[in-house]
Amino acid sequence: MSIFDIANKYIPGGVNSPVRAFKSVNLEPIFIEKANKAYLYDINGKEYIDYVCSWGPMILGHNNEQIRNNVIKACENGLSYGAATKLEVDMAKFICENVEHIEKIRMVNSGTEAVMSAIRLARGYTGKEKVIKFDGCYHGHSDSMLIQAGSGLMTEGIPDSSGVTKNCTIDTISIPYNNLEILEEVFKKHSDNIACVILEPVGANMGVVLPNDNFLKGIRDLCDTYKSLLIFDEVITGFRLGFGGASQYFNITPDLVTYGKIIGAGMPVGAYGGKKEIMDMIAPNGSVYQAGTLSGNPIAMTAGLTQLKILKENKNIYDNINNMSKYLFENIKDIITRNNIECSVNYIGSLGSIFFTKENVYDYISAKKSDTKKYANYFKNMLDNGIYIAPAQFEAMFISSEHNKDIIDKTLNIIEYSLKNIK
Ligand SMILES: *Cc1c(COP(=O)(O)O)cnc(C)c1O
Repeated sequence: MSIFDIANKYIPGGVNSPVRAFKSVNLEPIFIEKANKAYLYDINGKEYIDYVCSWGPMILGHNNEQIRNNVIKACENGLSYGAATKLEVDMAKFICENVEHIEKIRMVNSGTEAVMSAIRLARGYTGKEKVIKFDGCYHGHSDSMLIQAGSGLMTEGIPDSSGVTKNCTIDTISIPYNNLEILEEVFKKHSDNIACVILEPVGANMGVVLPNDNFLKGIRDLCDTYKSLLIFDEVITGFRLGFGGASQYFNITPDLVTYGKIIGAGMPVGAYGGKKEIMDMIAPNGSVYQAGTLSGNPIAMTAGLTQLKILKENKNIYDNINNMSKYLFENIKDIITRNNIECSVNYIGSLGSIFFTKENVYDYISAKKSDTKKYANYFKNMLDNGIYIAPAQFEAMFISSEHNKDIIDKTLNIIEYSLKNIK
């Protein structure tokens, strides 16, 4: 019996998060035993160059020595106390002092939780009910965010998962990304009842989709006009597009920000933060309830804070990662042009995507034009040749500081081979 067979016997679908099952690439999952720097090793000892990086958190590569040592030391003091620690204070202070638009921050255990809590807070603070999101943006699996794409404008939101009731999504409106006209229409229609607009300032869960010039500024302006909050879901972009995330990169100040992934350095961590006046509505100061048995866990805080400090203190780190990323993606574009392959590439900073459509991808509908069968074929070629990319088309490729030029050159050769040999 294979491990996947055993997994299927005891875990639904054999996995603890659906994408890991490799269903959309029609393969069986690989099982990872360990990871180091830019590499993953499966249980058969096969080595892969890793461009998933745990879906983003491992921006310093796997098994970073300093993080590992600090975590081991922290473990010697016990794993959890369910009481306040100095570590949580250090973490919060560090973020607030170094990210301009964060005045207070609350730690949680996942990106899902961060978003769910930020939305509750936005509703509590504004006294309004509706939430606008964008088709193709992922905000975790809380009920109100599991709404079908493109269902919002005409009628109330339709749930995208069974088990989510109509009433859970009735106040969520989902509209196309990069489309300010539709956003304005929705604002006009529900003028006094929009609690917040939430988005990924760079879409990274429909493949990588960049905001058009003025899109983010336009949203900010509409939120100001209608007295609604702007929430940037920076679970992926936070501490990746530079230390100040997308907010700083695009110079737009959101009211609330959600974090996850990099902030935990591979431990289960999320956070939400923003303006003091808003954050002070959270219990025990205010009337918006939110809690967590393991929130601010000392081991998780140690891992996350160590990673953030390394990112902050090594001034060139983002330049270096971004340069490697540019080298990778510009060369991929070259390969595509040279070989006349029907693909397009979107990238920014250290994340990007190859879409299997030659058309420009700027929203969910254009992303969906990708030929996912071709992606599956490409994925298999890459995997066979020791490169691990996301086992699904609509995800990002992530670069870490351990992806050096040699590794990327080797990757480019295999990408060229893999793209040319799609059956
Ligand atoms: C991953 C992700 C989430 C959910 O985070 P989890 O830790 O998986 O719950 C939310 N928003 C965005 C933008 C994400 O990429």
